[in-house]
Amino acid sequence: MKRAHNFSAGPAALPLDVLQSARDEFLNYGNSGSSIIELSHRGKEYVEVDRQAREKLSTLLGLGDDFEVLFLQGGASHQFMMVPFNFLRKGQTADYINTGTWSKKAIKEAKFFGDVHIPFSSEPQQFTRVPEDHELELSGKAEYVHFTSNNTIFGTEFPKEPETGGTPLVCDASSDFLSRPLDLDKYGLIYAGAQKNAGPAGLTVVIVRKSFLKKARTGDIPTILSYHTHVGTMFNTPPVFGVYMFNKVLDWIEAKGGLKAIQQRNRQKAELLYNEIDADDFYKGTTEKNSRSLMNVTFRLGDEELEKAFVAEADAQNLKGLKGHRSVGGIRASIYNACEPESIEALVAFMKEFRSKNG
Ligand SMILES: *Cc1c(COP(=O)(O)O)cnc(C)c1O
Repeated sequence: MKRAHNFSAGPAALPLDVLQSARDEFLNYGNSGSSIIELSHRGKEYVEVDRQAREKLSTLLGLGDDFEVLFLQGGASHQFMMVPFNFLRKGQTADYINTGTWSKKAIKEAKFFGDVHIPFSSEPQQFTRVPEDHELELSGKAEYVHFTSNNTIFGTEFPKEPETGGTPLVCDASSDFLSRPLDLDKYGLIYAGAQKNAGPAGLTVVIVRKSFLKKARTGDIPTILSYHTHVGTMFNTPPVFGVYMFNKVLDWIEAKGGLKAIQQRNRQKAELLYNEIDADDFYKGTTEKNSRSLMNVTFRLGDEELEKAFVAEADAQNLKGLKGHRSVGGIRASIYNACEPESIEALVAFMKEFRSKNG
């Protein structure tokens, strides 16, 4: 069997080592005679997996004692609602930076709960860039500033955290979670659906600062929707398979040398691809250069027929998942942590060949 060069935007490629390790122990986890997904979430096997995943995540990001880690369900889309439900009351304001489709969805939900101020929007520029700090027109009275660190659909990424003058950041980090170190001091809360960069669909990782959590509503909202409910305890059955796979992905990141090394690797991977796009004007990058994503590389060709041919021929050569998001068209190569440099090299070789045939 030949594994695909997988450029899917999500669910996305996972490290081969992780998949093989899960396969090898799938029928008999730790000599229990059962699969990990057949065992009680309160039994010793799963409790140990859960503990390890928290500990490894904490070590990788350097969370120390300041943060709580929650393993929830419902995806990032659920957090679009849960964040404002907990942290934004009627009459209060939250600032939401608008850099794409996912930002807009988060904004829509926040408006159900309180006032939303937009300090910056790249919508008039078709979401081709993220803001510089001096462009942010913050409200100055926000409970938090929300941003989408990587814009999966449009192929832009914040090169660093926006400067908020001390207001806690809330981040939808779904598509670049664990792709680089974070400037933790700036964050109140980080959430990420696992299926882009960290594991299978079904797990949503939430990291929340303890001092920020103190401001979260409790008692007057439904129990399961309150962050407090999930701290230090399994309120209900967690997504056990997701956490189990996440734990293995964390081992893999550690073995690669941690987040700094992963960041270096991601930079080199993205550079290979952007260099090829920039070589001439056969391929056209869709975003401003200093806003370019290291995770989702978006580009266009001369016309839609040529793009169709590109995707079809690539697919026939085992380069999968390159079609751009249905809302924007073009080509998108998602090259998350687990996408190996060999896959990018194969794509670049194909791009050269396609250009010489069609250019
Ligand atoms: C994929 C994605 C989402 C949506 O995630 P779900 O798990 O499907 O809810 C939200 N935000 C970003 C940045 C994403 O990439």
